[in-house]
Amino acid sequence: MLETLIKNGLVITADSRFPASIGIRDGKIAGVFELGEEPNAREIIDARGLAVLPGVIDMHSHHRQGSEKGFEYKDTIYTATKQCAAGGVTTSVGMPNVNPPPNSLELLERQFAIYRSDSIVDWNFNPAPTIHSEMPAMAETGIAAFKIFMVVDTGRDYPHMPGIGVHDHGKLLEIMQRCAELDIPLMVHPHDQALMDVIERKFWARGERDALAYAKAYAAHDGVIWETAIATLLRLQRAAGCHLHILHTQTAGSVQLIRNAKAAGQRVTCELNPWALFLGCDWSAIERLGSYALSYWVPEKNVPSLWQGVNDGTIDIIATDHAPHTREEKEIGWTDGWKAHTGTPSTQFYLSMFLTAALEGKISLERVVDACCTAPARIFRLEAKGRIHPGLDGDLVLVDLEREYEIRDEDVLSLVGWSPYAGRKVKGKPVRTIVRGRTVYLDGKVIGEKGFGRQAKAMRP
Ligand SMILES: [Zn+2]
Repeated sequence: MLETLIKNGLVITADSRFPASIGIRDGKIAGVFELGEEPNAREIIDARGLAVLPGVIDMHSHHRQGSEKGFEYKDTIYTATKQCAAGGVTTSVGMPNVNPPPNSLELLERQFAIYRSDSIVDWNFNPAPTIHSEMPAMAETGIAAFKIFMVVDTGRDYPHMPGIGVHDHGKLLEIMQRCAELDIPLMVHPHDQALMDVIERKFWARGERDALAYAKAYAAHDGVIWETAIATLLRLQRAAGCHLHILHTQTAGSVQLIRNAKAAGQRVTCELNPWALFLGCDWSAIERLGSYALSYWVPEKNVPSLWQGVNDGTIDIIATDHAPHTREEKEIGWTDGWKAHTGTPSTQFYLSMFLTAALEGKISLERVVDACCTAPARIFRLEAKGRIHPGLDGDLVLVDLEREYEIRDEDVLSLVGWSPYAGRKVKGKPVRTIVRGRTVYLDGKVIGEKGFGRQAKAMRP
């Protein structure tokens, strides 16, 4: 007898859609059944009229809470994973810019301990590979990747603090060689601070220092700070042979560089963040919201290349870069964009935004499922995740594709209490999120419990 049967839904996978019922036993998918062929189950969930997707896997989220007092006023692992549950995310992977930044086994274990006690959904964490001798032991813990920020020395130590930033090309090469030996992917936030120094000084000399100047500086010369960094990383990857995963793909030139590298057989993958397509590409939003809309400005002419990249698979996955900050930390951007904390919260609503884009014909629903749910597990070898298949974890999100709703600040489950997407209407709402067979979100309410989440381990080669 099955524990749970999710009956009569429209299953959408990375390559097809079909009506089916899904059985779960012991937290695992026990079978995918044709309608009318289902075995008995203790609990029946009626999914008639709903789409059933594999749970979303977010490989890039800034969860804020570290093992010492730091940034828990922005978001805790509990509040971050509440947003996950409400947004259909069943696995969420943290980034190392917490306090202290985990770059040793001891600090990583301390970080894991918080997830074990507080996370509602499954989780993993990408530590920083800045101490070479610590890398092998960290690799053995089931991490999916290491993460490096090329951002250093920007005159502020948040959100890119010491201990996680490496710009020196020799050091980057050594880290890549180490990652190749360990066969662990390396995620890199591309950046060229030497170019940024020259660019930002020009803005400051003209007295331009607000959020709009900050936006323009990062996008200067058609994204030169991004593309030179990516070109360097791709060349270093060719020398080291590691799996390089590029973060924050946002310019047409970057997409082309990555496409060429893939065509040449290089071991490279990359992500797209929701802000690049739905927020940072709209200059009027940046004028209206200032730092609240930044992450980064993505001039609109790049957008067709980003959609093309995600549709043709050059861009492998969608990950949030969820990065909540308080209103005070954003408000200062009206006078000093460089002092405002960079990043935007997005976990709770990004599946809906991509489903809306699919309903508008910009991307297929199957490709949304692949980029958000299946490809992350495949690329990072997450055990038993990413697909609706017998024997894999019963991670599912039930979505009402007809349900339209407005994103509102008052519905944001983050401690910061605002969303840059507030006021926007989206179509396609998660109505139930299931992690390993257990419902953690139902009809507008998070019902998952702290500590239910488990590490979504990567399989070692
Ligand atoms: Zn990030």
